[in-house]
Amino acid sequence: MNRARIGIICGVGLEELHPEGTDLRVGTPFGSPPIMRLASVGDVDVVFLTRRGSRHNQPPHLTNYRANIYGLHELGVERIIGTDVTQMIDVPSRKSAIAIPSDLIDLSGRLGSTFYDEAPAVQIDMGYPFCPEIRSSLLDSARELGIKAETESVYVCVEGPRFRTPAEIQALKILGGDLVGMDLAPEVFLARELGMCYSAVTVLFDGNKGKQTAPAAVRLIEAAKNSASTLKEIVITAIKEVPVRRRCFCARGPEETII
Ligand SMILES: [Zn+2]
Repeated sequence: MNRARIGIICGVGLEELHPEGTDLRVGTPFGSPPIMRLASVGDVDVVFLTRRGSRHNQPPHLTNYRANIYGLHELGVERIIGTDVTQMIDVPSRKSAIAIPSDLIDLSGRLGSTFYDEAPAVQIDMGYPFCPEIRSSLLDSARELGIKAETESVYVCVEGPRFRTPAEIQALKILGGDLVGMDLAPEVFLARELGMCYSAVTVLFDGNKGKQTAPAAVRLIEAAKNSASTLKEIVITAIKEVPVRRRCFCARGPEETII
């Protein structure tokens, strides 16, 4: 079995993150994830996974997040960079097209957000939801490339597949959210349960421009296309900078998470 050190999860419109490589199919106790691609970035073995399948045939509320994360773990991945296209909550204050979220509120209420539906009672620590080492590599990467990115933003994860109403966006703002998306939870929780590092970088779009005629879905795809090459530069540079040896605390042993 090929082993990879870093996994990249590609969101809608970001398929061009996939370089040439070897396609891999794996099975998991939770079902089969989409075909993954093993490639080399510099001297790092990387697995690329398109979150909702190569043809985006899985809507967010039916995406098999457990199979995706478990499949990456099966291939030896220890660290994951999630990519996404995310709606801005407070549009006037956002000055960048890219964000590297610093915290997360999960309002999705999804089933399948844990690998531990049965004993033992595992309760992971979420004092720092995103791996500080990968986050630091992403931030350094954006800085080195001269790319402006939101560096402190709270991502609110909601159930899909529809976009939020203006009143819902206002409510999320009051809760302390800066961005709203549908994917980073439960990925971040599932990765932590398996002792994997997870951090994310997202493309931003304005989903509630009342006077715009294009539907939000069209604006989302447009934003993804416009920023895909920028996002790719950040991710590829970060892959080369992520420390080989983990010094973060994401890989807590089971004895520290069982209640
Ligand atoms: Zn970590």
